[in-house]
Amino acid sequence: MSTGGPEGPRILLVALHQSYRVAAYQAAARALGVRLVIASEGRHSVIPAVAEGIHIDFANVSEAVDIIVESGARQAFHAVVASDDLTLEVATRAAAALGLPHNPLSAVGAARRKDLARDALRAAGVPVPRFRCVNLTQPLAPQISAVEYPCVVKPLAMSASRGVIRVDSAEELERTLPRVAAIVAHAVVPDERNSVLVESFLPGIEIAIEGLLRDGRLHVLAIFDKPEPLDGPYFEESYYIMPSRLPRALLERAVERLTQACAAYGLREGPIHGELRLHDGEAWIVEVAARTIGGDCARLLSFGAGRGLEELVLRHALGWPLDLNPRPGAAGVLMIPTPGGGTLRRVEGVLAAEQLPGIDEVMISVREGYELVPLPEGGTYLGFVFAHADTPQQVERALREAHGCLNIVIAPTLPVTQSRLAARAIS
Ligand code: ADP
Ligand code: CA
Repeated sequence: MSTGGPEGPRILLVALHQSYRVAAYQAAARALGVRLVIASEGRHSVIPAVAEGIHIDFANVSEAVDIIVESGARQAFHAVVASDDLTLEVATRAAAALGLPHNPLSAVGAARRKDLARDALRAAGVPVPRFRCVNLTQPLAPQISAVEYPCVVKPLAMSASRGVIRVDSAEELERTLPRVAAIVAHAVVPDERNSVLVESFLPGIEIAIEGLLRDGRLHVLAIFDKPEPLDGPYFEESYYIMPSRLPRALLERAVERLTQACAAYGLREGPIHGELRLHDGEAWIVEVAARTIGGDCARLLSFGAGRGLEELVLRHALGWPLDLNPRPGAAGVLMIPTPGGGTLRRVEGVLAAEQLPGIDEVMISVREGYELVPLPEGGTYLGFVFAHADTPQQVERALREAHGCLNIVIAPTLPVTQSRLAARAIS
């Protein structure tokens, strides 16, 4: 499958089956006159356009790379782009095999694995919290005797804050480790189900930085404030507002640390999503992912950079000028918090919220009848509210007001035995 004119350059997008990002990349490719070929798994994709793409199996990385290389030998690709964290390895290996620009595999690995990331930062002298990897299959007591509190327990390679828990005492840590062990139990990679990271709690306020690396140089596309305190015990994402209202010197410090972190991992090319905590004039890396911002939030970048994020990623991949042209004004998103567990019945107040000044759209991404599982076990996004206005204050006010309009109606999910009993009582 390809879009764009027959003479335009060809880019291979390595995408997850049913990735919602594909449509945004297709639109960007059309706008640039670029031909986009999609490598994905699943012959019966719900995205009709993918049906004629390259079929690969992400569980078999070397075979997937071979298939891509064969295809590239028949008709050359000018660049390879990954849509998500989970497609990065295949995309990176394929780009290497095709002789196209790519990040070192070790850098992509460090950006995905929180333990390797911490090791790399410490080795490069970038400030990190005290951390240790706890092996869940070994006796825990000797491994956690020196832990300082408060601390944070987290999976080595998950996202959306799943399994990330703040812990304030040794007793709490003993109760929390089995809980996180259950969350990581299904990880495919043995290290990722057998170990978790325990690190000191970093106080302060949190920001997110979206950037694009070219030849090792970081271009900052946007800096978001996260105005809601994130002190735990769980760390649900909510408001992202740009531009940041924090002092310039502090933001410069954050960009400097993020640049050092990219160098420490070995990342040199492509999109970066960094999260940092700012405290006492210092910026601490929470994580740096070698991908674009998650969810539909990428669309906010058209305000920060004057171009859609996918368009920038494709331009970068082709070595074209990035042509950053920030629009004045402010924008933001509310990732709608999940108020509790159960079956989603309906979300009331969407129209009222959408009519508020500054609100662009309210998007509910979980369908009625689906089960909502809150953090730390769950971690799907219920939906998003997008806003833009002249100032970040106005954006924040609009988003908070919109949130106030929403009434999320959830029915408790009965445990299986109870619902069976109820069914018997009725029959
Ligand atoms: P994920 O990849 O699941 O998003 P993160 O490592 O980014 O996991 O952690 C999720 C959130 O947990 C962060 O955004 C931050 O708010 C909080 N957090 C993680 N590590 C720490 C820490 N050491 N100190 C304080 N808060 C932390
Ligand atoms: Ca994160």
